[in-house]
Amino acid sequence: MTTIPDNLQVVRDRMARACDRSGRDVNEVTLLAVSKTFGPQAVVEAVGAGQQAFGENYVQEGVDKLLTVREILPAGSVAPVWHCIGPLQSNKTRLVASHFDWVQSVDRLKIAQRLSEQRPAGLPPLQVCIQVNADGGVNKSGVAPDGLPALADAVAALPSLSLRGLMSIPDPVEGFGAQRAAFLRVRDLYDMLRARGHALDTLSMGMSDDLEAAVDAGATMVRVGRAIFGNRG
Ligand SMILES: *Cc1c(COP(=O)(O)O)cnc(C)c1O
Repeated sequence: MTTIPDNLQVVRDRMARACDRSGRDVNEVTLLAVSKTFGPQAVVEAVGAGQQAFGENYVQEGVDKLLTVREILPAGSVAPVWHCIGPLQSNKTRLVASHFDWVQSVDRLKIAQRLSEQRPAGLPPLQVCIQVNADGGVNKSGVAPDGLPALADAVAALPSLSLRGLMSIPDPVEGFGAQRAAFLRVRDLYDMLRARGHALDTLSMGMSDDLEAAVDAGATMVRVGRAIFGNRG
């Protein structure tokens, strides 16, 4: 039986080796622990092992969990930072704006406008990544590359959002080279937006099975679930 702290160490070691091979500084890459379907206690264990950033896909599950975690975390723990990484519906934007620190799955302006309007005045701006569908699958979430520049310009202008970068989930492919090629398409879009004047610092791509290729292609955040918490039911 491996434990969450053991698994976290294995993932950190993978990230360090990947950075080493790719000539990158390990401090440039943040680990987002994807805790969807796992309970608050799993998050508390991960926090105890030094993990700070957590990702949730399902809004209501995530809000319930983050409120519980806040109550049960031992005194003196570092406060977790919560990222919403799942598909967003209009009727959930108020919950997201009220409780999360980041949203990585913004893929249309209407959702971004609602998040900005609904962000409570006392909180810092909601940190946002735009989800891009870089390989063009028709049934996937994410803005198509064609629509990305206009969406980024509009999101960046919203008062209660801070545009930080891009998130992408390329179609799964086998092998480092093919994975890397898919991630490089996302990296090109990120570079394009930076050349357009957006001060971005977050390129969120890579999961349990392909984080090495993502790091090689320039990811600054990898989103890892199963390799930390185990298989989901
Ligand atoms: C579930 C999920 C992950 C984590 O995937 P694993 O394969 O468990 O590492 C990362 N990103 C998103 C958007 C997810 O939905």
